[in-house]
Amino acid sequence: MTDNTIPHVAIIGGGPSGLMAAEVLSFAGVHVDIYDAMPSLGRKLLLAGIGGLNITHSEAYGLFCARYGKRQTDLQKSLDRLPPDDLRSWVHTLGIETFIGSSGRVFPKQMKAAPLLRAWLHRLRDAGVRMHVRHRWIGWDAEGALRIINPSGETLIKPDATILALGGASWPQLGSDAAWVALLQARAIKVTPLQSANCGFNVAWSPHLREKFAGAPLKSVTLSFINDQGITDQRHGEMVIGAKGVEGSLIYAFSQQLREQINVHGKATFLLDLAPGRTTERVLADLTQPRGSRSLSKHLHNRVGISGVKAALLYELLSKEQLADTLTLAAKIKALPITVHETRPLAEAISTAGGVSFTNLDQNLMLTHLPGVFIAGEMLDWEAPTGGYLLNGCFATGMSAGLGVLDWLSRD
Ligand SMILES: Cc1cc2nc3c(=O)[nH]c(=O)nc-3n(C[C@H](O)[C@H](O)[C@H](O)COP(=O)(O)OP(=O)(O)OC[C@H]3O[C@@H](n4cnc5c(N)ncnc54)[C@H](O)[C@@H]3O)c2cc1C
Repeated sequence: MTDNTIPHVAIIGGGPSGLMAAEVLSFAGVHVDIYDAMPSLGRKLLLAGIGGLNITHSEAYGLFCARYGKRQTDLQKSLDRLPPDDLRSWVHTLGIETFIGSSGRVFPKQMKAAPLLRAWLHRLRDAGVRMHVRHRWIGWDAEGALRIINPSGETLIKPDATILALGGASWPQLGSDAAWVALLQARAIKVTPLQSANCGFNVAWSPHLREKFAGAPLKSVTLSFINDQGITDQRHGEMVIGAKGVEGSLIYAFSQQLREQINVHGKATFLLDLAPGRTTERVLADLTQPRGSRSLSKHLHNRVGISGVKAALLYELLSKEQLADTLTLAAKIKALPITVHETRPLAEAISTAGGVSFTNLDQNLMLTHLPGVFIAGEMLDWEAPTGGYLLNGCFATGMSAGLGVLDWLSRD
């Protein structure tokens, strides 16, 4: 039997942010029901586990917080409530050991999400959290009750508080389909347009490059990008030539800057250094060596170490005249321009930029227009690079929303 004096909170969305809110609330003795449209919870967390589940990052806290860029101030209170070290300790309470990789990223020792999710759901059930899968939230009725569709029809729920933790719009097949955008906009909530983040970009490659090299990694290249303020950002790493464009970790690292420049100018250009180990002078000297009867491809391979997809890119992007001119060729090997006009679709992206604007929210992540309704996770208007910042941000805002509900209930 339910004790009617104990407050009842509905959490919509059983991803990392919703589950963290459920933990905070259930441990405080509140009745918690989680509703999720999918047949099981935490599907995107499980997908993140395929890449090893990068939970957070071990760099200095100041640097860590700065990764949230323009939204650092909005997120600071949440991050302070669950900084990386505390998040790591929290993971350990689930019986999951962690380690710091060579890049400073933090992972579970098993490099997967299933054991963590299993232990967490178990602990939440033990704490009394009720989980309702195949329950889709479709908005509010005229009296402000939550409308939930489940396999047996529609139910109306009137909790004491609600947390919406519905995710962004990437990988909608895992549940986060952003159907909430229209529902919140209908209630005059400002939603910054959703866009791809940590994503690839379209490039119309020739059929030859597509057929021969789609999926090929461009190993050890240096990418340079000059922003509108004239500041150059340069990083070394790997990217992939995809069938429809460019993708991979190096591209994801620049995706926010590239996307923002596309938003302003309709296009963005970055430069690739295909021979980062050699200076331009050395590349020029190598190319100037006598070629004899060797083809240019052989010469590039033997003298500059450029072959495979790197050579194919030069043939793809340079004219015959540019390829024939040693000075130009050397310069392009060190700075090959690639122009992009659009991101790959949001459904393919790792994460979502845009979302519920912080201007709608109070310090506790409650919607000021809809008192008693809190927002957490990726559906908020923030973005961060890969490296564990996304999950740490989701766990932290989930915790904040949970604490915010407790504070609100205590005042009510
Ligand atoms: C391929 C991939 C790899 C990733 N790897 C990492 C990583 O290693 N490290 C990292 O930090 N981040 C990673 N991320 C990002 C991270 O997984 C997400 O940022 C995080 O899962 C978002 O958590 P969330 O709780 O906000 O939303 P979600 O995890 O998307 O959960 C939202 C939940 O809401 C439910 N829902 C949506 N709409 C409704 C509705 N109307 N009614 C009921 N339920 C609904 C969904 O079914 C879903 O269960 C990765 C993402 C992808 C796609």
